[in-house]
Amino acid sequence: MLYRILRGISEIYPKACLLLFIGLFLVAFTFTMVYPLVPIVLIISSVYLVVVVRCGYLVLKWAELKVARNKLAQGMCPACGVRCDKRQVAERSVHDCPGCRRGFTDTGEAHLPQESAETLGNTSQVEYQGNAVAAEGGGHG
Ligand SMILES: [Zn+2]
Repeated sequence: MLYRILRGISEIYPKACLLLFIGLFLVAFTFTMVYPLVPIVLIISSVYLVVVVRCGYLVLKWAELKVARNKLAQGMCPACGVRCDKRQVAERSVHDCPGCRRGFTDTGEAHLPQESAETLGNTSQVEYQGNAVAAEGGGHG
């Protein structure tokens, strides 16, 4: 439950911060002629605000991964609490949840199947055998 909340916040967080900065820009823009001290203060403080926002994100991510790791150590899925299956994918173990079809690595990061295919160096080869049969059959004309 806690993991889902943290996960949800960390998904909204970048968009919320972008909107905050756009909002601050609009405030600064409207005050340029009326009261120029406001944009100046905002420009200077925005540099520090970027650092604060970045640190906030790192703390959020750290908390999310810590909660996920704790759950995975108990052998449970962080998202839904069902027992997870552990399997080996390209030198690292992935916890697969049969309940919600999510995958997690040992670090608590969500595991993406495409990512593992790239690290393995597999390229999907599709062979078209149906075309040869169709070309032989159409000998009319
Ligand atoms: Zn699950």
